[in-house]
Amino acid sequence: MERVKALELHFIHFLAPGHMIPLCDIATLFASRGHHVTIITTPSNAQILRKSIPFHPHLTFHTVPFPSQEVGLPDGVESLSSATDGDNLVKVFHATTLLQPPIQSFVENHPPDCIVADFLFPWVHDLANKLHIPRLAFNGFSLFAVCAILGAKPNPSENSLLFPNLPHQITINATPPESLTQFLETMMETALKSHGLIVNNFAELDGEEYIEHYKKTTGHKAWHLGPASLVRKSIQEKTERGHKSVVSADDCLTWLNSKPDRSVLYICFGSLCHFPDNQLHEIARGIDASGHGFIWVVPEKKGKEEESEEEKEKWLPKGFEERNREKGMVIRGWAPQLLILNHRAVGAFLTHCGWNSTVEAVTAGVPMVTWPVHGEQFYNEKLVTEVRGVGVEVGATEWGSIGFGEREKLVSRECIEKAVRRLMDGGDEAHEIRRRAQEFGKKARDAVREGGSSYNNLTALINDLTRLRDTRLLHVN
Ligand code: UDP
Repeated sequence: MERVKALELHFIHFLAPGHMIPLCDIATLFASRGHHVTIITTPSNAQILRKSIPFHPHLTFHTVPFPSQEVGLPDGVESLSSATDGDNLVKVFHATTLLQPPIQSFVENHPPDCIVADFLFPWVHDLANKLHIPRLAFNGFSLFAVCAILGAKPNPSENSLLFPNLPHQITINATPPESLTQFLETMMETALKSHGLIVNNFAELDGEEYIEHYKKTTGHKAWHLGPASLVRKSIQEKTERGHKSVVSADDCLTWLNSKPDRSVLYICFGSLCHFPDNQLHEIARGIDASGHGFIWVVPEKKGKEEESEEEKEKWLPKGFEERNREKGMVIRGWAPQLLILNHRAVGAFLTHCGWNSTVEAVTAGVPMVTWPVHGEQFYNEKLVTEVRGVGVEVGATEWGSIGFGEREKLVSRECIEKAVRRLMDGGDEAHEIRRRAQEFGKKARDAVREGGSSYNNLTALINDLTRLRDTRLLHVN
């Protein structure tokens, strides 16, 4: 049989862990099938990626300079998650727009057969058209969330969102900031003009009903290729994703190994959520009252060397550390989330419902206590709780923006304790939710195996891109 010539693909990731990690994991999927992949990135992100993503001889990096001086950022701050305050966040965002000329110049000089780019770089649309090559869009969302975003109808009198046309009857008791709705609408408009949407999920979790709904309402094709995190096999690949971990894999595993099965609640709010001290204080009180073991990831106080005792007491109740020396671990900074979630000692995940965290928990078969904060997280919560039944809600109703500001509505210690107990105390309801979570975990792992849904989707996508490439070459020659 004639061997098919390998495809050349360029991947352009956005500068935030929640976008960079899954898209680069997906890039390795193409490389593992023998295709030539170039990840276009910036110097400090390249350093992290080189160390952590699985090695493939066909996977290379092209780095473009990060415009630190132009935007006034210190060297090395090249991700939204490294920003130390709101001002820095804006600067990182601004810097991403300045990446267009060097990326464009590289792509024009080395045109691939396909560009896979984050939807936050809408200019890639014109670039791909100019080069007559297909572009695939990636936004890091579940397809369920995309359907919800496109079908949401605000109900201002109730401060809620309704979805009259979705396959499930859902109501969200919060409304997104107007700026977010407009921003997502604009970005989705260009994404829908792409050759297809790459989704870091497996078809079984979004469900055929939402895949059909998307196709029917948009006429656009979605390719489910995930869960992307399953490409990471070694402890190192699972530990150093996005940032350097502040605890070693060894320390973390030793601690978890000493705990009974399903006795530890894992708490983490992703890479961009910075709760004020009073909210952290409520979390501490809530988990204390639940009496369960925990690993609690608290973002480090950015830009500060050591935290004084006085500062610490603003968010951590007096005596908390002493009381929980045995059964709790507070990780101040980046944690090896994949390692933790996949440990037998973890019984539930208190999560902000960032899509990566959500699909990572499902893949590990871990049920969730859901606490959405910003972005598309409120949609993900509904998929987890009401649609697939693999989690319970903490009762968050404040749909904020990414940032460092105060929050108007605190989630109380009582709500936290109650939701945590619903999953961690055991009982019929918890048992049933855990059973479903484990069932989806198995489906997730099956999806990426040879013959599984994501595996087959990748084959079909590669065939499709090969056909497009060959047709184009036929016309050129
Ligand atoms: N993550 C991690 N350690 C941390 C915080 C986050 O490994 O301490 C990873 C997490 O596993 C996920 C990503 O960073 O892959 C965060 O993406 P998500 O979509 O969950 O949330 P975001 O950070 O975009 O809000």
